[in-house]
Amino acid sequence: MKMPEELLKIDYTLPKKSWLEPTVEFRKGTYCYSASAKCQEYLGLPNPRQWQPYEEDWKLPENWKKTILEGMKERLNKYRSFRLFLDICVRCGACADKCHFYIGSGDPKNMPVLRAELLRSVYRKNFTLAGKLFGKFAGARELTEDVVKEWFYYFYQCTECRRCSVFCPYGIDTCEITMMGRELLDLVGCNIDWVLDPAAKCYRTGNHLGVPPHAFKPAIETAVEDVETITGIRVEAPINRKGAEVLFIAPSADYFAMPHWFTLLGYLMLFHEIGLDYTWSAYASEGGNFGLFHSMELAKRLNAKIYAEAKRLGVKWILGGECGHMWRGIHQYMDTFNGPADFLEEPVSPITGTRFENAKSTKMIHICEFTADLLNNNKLKLKPSRNDQWKVTFHDSCNPARSMGLIEEPRYIIKNVCHYFYDMPENTIKERTFCCGSGAGLGADENMEMRLRGGFPRANAVKYVHEKYGVNLLACICAIDKAAFPPLLEYWVPGVEVAGVHELVGNALVMKGEKERTTDLRGEPLRAEEGKGGV
Ligand code: SF4
Ligand code: SF4
Repeated sequence: MKMPEELLKIDYTLPKKSWLEPTVEFRKGTYCYSASAKCQEYLGLPNPRQWQPYEEDWKLPENWKKTILEGMKERLNKYRSFRLFLDICVRCGACADKCHFYIGSGDPKNMPVLRAELLRSVYRKNFTLAGKLFGKFAGARELTEDVVKEWFYYFYQCTECRRCSVFCPYGIDTCEITMMGRELLDLVGCNIDWVLDPAAKCYRTGNHLGVPPHAFKPAIETAVEDVETITGIRVEAPINRKGAEVLFIAPSADYFAMPHWFTLLGYLMLFHEIGLDYTWSAYASEGGNFGLFHSMELAKRLNAKIYAEAKRLGVKWILGGECGHMWRGIHQYMDTFNGPADFLEEPVSPITGTRFENAKSTKMIHICEFTADLLNNNKLKLKPSRNDQWKVTFHDSCNPARSMGLIEEPRYIIKNVCHYFYDMPENTIKERTFCCGSGAGLGADENMEMRLRGGFPRANAVKYVHEKYGVNLLACICAIDKAAFPPLLEYWVPGVEVAGVHELVGNALVMKGEKERTTDLRGEPLRAEEGKGGV
């Protein structure tokens, strides 16, 4: 791996070659490996085969061109936004320097406008009069095998984060163009392992890690034991309990990965303390949805288990944990994918009586909305000094921030449970937040150089608050972030740890009957003044 000084030598000089000429060099560290034939077959996807992007022959099916163009036609008719986003771009360039991959790589085809042009040029050639008549003078080009390779390279160098869309005066969402580009590639069997392997596992077991129901239970029981060790309190963690009021769904990383695990402890402590009548599901054991990084169809298939389990268990509404793209799926698509969920009720907090009208259609709310409401109604006893070892900043995960507007609630929670909170510069947070660089299925090890480049703008803002205020903890509410940031920050900003917001809640929460705490949720000793002293 290159040293940080080397990665920072970014060349923004524009190449002399026309952008219309497809140029891709599958350089190690900057692309993801292809999906295995096994996963493709398992999911019933077209043209399953063994191949790799760096090979000359991609073994495309004989009719590949026709398949892609027919697929494009179908999608142009089906999704009005797709046709609109292809038609209305005026190439003003307002989005050009807003993508973290362009900032971190200097590759002009990572400018959102040019990323979209890679597909738009083929659209023009085949579906517009100007493109048919004037060819490259109208920005049109033929669909060739090299263009397919270029699509693959650049549509899997977009984390579908939607930062560019915030700056586009026409509201063009390049993420949706990437999503369509990936769908078209999939029609000829071109997709990546880091998306399809978790998707296949999720289809088989209900979660991306492939944890079967009989292994889900011991994982949750281990968390219950950890809570008991720290607090002296044995909490309930019901699984598949019919008739509970609430179904709780978290990303699977919360019960299998670090530092996600501590977020899980926080959930369990909170639910016990407020006496929530809830249940986990060993079948809908995943909030995330890697199908979203592949196609609408696969996203819909994977999402279906959430409503199916809610129905089977007879709950009233659904509460969701700290996940990123799960919330894009829920907020923007679930109701039309698998709804309407008429068998559920509009969520009402049993503790405060607050009615979450924003979830009128999906019947599912985010745990940060739920906890912020508890705090706003003074329902929790807290000792924020137990988080005094942390100087905290908050990373707005792309999907909760930009796809559902969850911006103030996490900050409100952190400010209630911690004494030291410092926001990063305004143009790098909230709707303008910078992506971690590893979302949308790009978190593969083989793609590490591109992840580090893409994550650089975010890391740079963390560095700013680290140096200015001594920030040593980045809190976030996304499972991919919690996996992506530890190596990213170790590389760019050593000395900053990563945590979920509900880990901080668990630290500060004073539970009825708890023993005197000597450690935080990570098992680190509390300083004398933190555990015992004031607030
Ligand atoms: S900001 Fe919008 S209109 Fe301008 S180039 Fe980008 S996508 Fe096109
Ligand atoms: S959606 Fe994000 S990653 Fe994709 S082009 Fe826009 S800013 Fe870049």
